[in-house]
Parts: sequence; structure tokens; C-alpha cells
Amino acid sequence: MSNNSPLTGKTALVTGGSRSIGAAIAKRLAADGAAVAITYNGSPDKAGEVVAAIEAAGGRALAIQADAGNADAVRAAVGQTVAQLGGIDILVNNAGIAINGPVEEIAFADYERMIAVNVTGVFVATQEAVRNMKAGGRIIHIGSSMARYAAFPTASVYTLTKGAVAGFNRSLARDLGPKGITVNTVLPGPTNTDMNPKDGPVAAIVGPGMAIGRYGEPEEIAAAVAFLASPDAAFITGAELMADGGFTA
Ligand code: NDP
Repeated sequence: MSNNSPLTGKTALVTGGSRSIGAAIAKRLAADGAAVAITYNGSPDKAGEVVAAIEAAGGRALAIQADAGNADAVRAAVGQTVAQLGGIDILVNNAGIAINGPVEEIAFADYERMIAVNVTGVFVATQEAVRNMKAGGRIIHIGSSMARYAAFPTASVYTLTKGAVAGFNRSLARDLGPKGITVNTVLPGPTNTDMNPKDGPVAAIVGPGMAIGRYGEPEEIAAAVAFLASPDAAFITGAELMADGGFTA
């Protein structure tokens, strides 16, 4: 990491940074020079590995246990980030869950959990971050290509939550533009993670639809986030960056 790194001197919080896409984002933002806090819920060991990897590469990192579905925990995580890293310049709302099923069968508790993690968690983290964010700040949501193209059945509630994030993204850009804070969403297409492995059941359905003929890798989503977090993206706000290998092309 050099002083020419685009995020030198910046601090970032990545929700759900213990595994998969969130872990790749945390490592990439750290490689670009940011001090990075991650939250996790059920994987303390994996969160520790992400922190250790960032530190081994010469970066600064912090892991915070905070269920994205628990508003108090999310607020506390933002507060801890500000207190321990000295501020928050970049928030990446990555934590998300998918509990799929036919709409007539989905349990109301599962619906409420998805709303809590994928929507309320995004709102609370954003609100608390903005209260602490200066001009030049970046809010980056991880949405989903499903909000544009619902490629398979059983994901109606998941898609509902990602559609909510899409609306929040656009309207928030209006609120925060005058403060010098940009708001954007990266929409991953099928990406090889624990949630959606490239040899899993979803891949059998969506794989043939990938224009580039393969799943995405978490590092490729992280690259899109890194661009939106960088000074080069200062004029981009309210945008959705599709990172889907042409799945929705
Ligand atoms: P994974 O399930 O592979 O990883 C999820 C990460 O989020 C883990 O680090 C997990 O941490 C964390 N997390 C889950 N629930 C919570 C919670 N309640 N509180 C805090 N952290 C939580 O998911 P992906 O990496 O695949 O997905 C990341 C994001 O990308 C999600 O928003 C997802 O909707 C989106 N996405 C993914 C796509 C894909 O094909 N993979 C496609 C489109 C969008 P822990 O284990 O510690 O709980």
C-alpha cells in the first residue's frame, strides 16, 4: 500500500464483512488504503481471518459483532467505527440474506427477518453513518440484479427487499448531494459465494444466462465498490452499477 492509494486516510465500514462478497470488499478497500471496520453476525472466526489478512498486508481493520437485523447493534457498530477509526467516510451496506420459497408458503417470520436485515439494517446503518459523515462521504449499497430481472421463482421477498434498496438509493442521493455525500448501488449478478455457489442449485438455473459464460467472483464485485468509493466517482450519485457478467443485458 502506498500513499498514492486512492483511499489513504479514509475510514470504511462494511456490513457483513466476514465472508464472501463483504470480505472481498473489506480487503479491497483496505488494499486501496482505507482503515476498515467489518460487522459480522454468526462467523466470528471468519471475521477474525479477514482482520488478520488486512493487518498482514499492512492495513488497519476492526471486526464488530452486530446483527444487521438489530437496530441498536447496528447503531453501536457505526459508533464503534467512528470511535476506534476516527470517523466514517465510506459505508458499504452489504449484509444480506435470502430465505427463498413459494410466496404462499413463506413463513411470516422469514419475511420479517429479511426485511429486518436487508432493509431496516440498511436504513439504520445509513442514518447513523450520515450523522457522522463529512463532505466527500460515500454510501454504497449492495443490491441485486434480481431488482431489475427476476430470473427464477421463489425469490419474491428477497427481490422485494432489494427493490426497496433501489428506491432508497435514488431518493437518498437527493438528500445527501448537498452535503457532498454520494449514494450508489452495486447490483451483483450471480456471484460465487456461500449464498450462491457457482455449482449450487441456483447456478443450474441461471448459469446459461451469463453473457460472459461464468459466475462472478466476490473480488469482481469488490472492484465495482472500490471504484464508487474512489475520488474518481465523485460525480456519480443515485446510480446503479450492474456487475453481472451481462446476466441482465
Ligand atoms: P453470503 O451469505 O455468502 O455472506 C453473507 C455475509 O453477510 C456474511 O459475511 C455474513 O456474516 C453476513 N451477514 C448475514 N446476515 C447478517 C446479519 N444479520 N448481520 C450481520 N452480518 C450478516 O452472501 P453474499 O456474499 O453472496 O451476499 C452479499 C450481498 O450481496 C448480499 O446483500 C446479497 O443479497 C448480495 N447479492 C449476492 C449475490 C450472489 O449471487 N451471491 C447476487 C446479488 C446480490 P456472518 O456469517 O458472520 O453472519
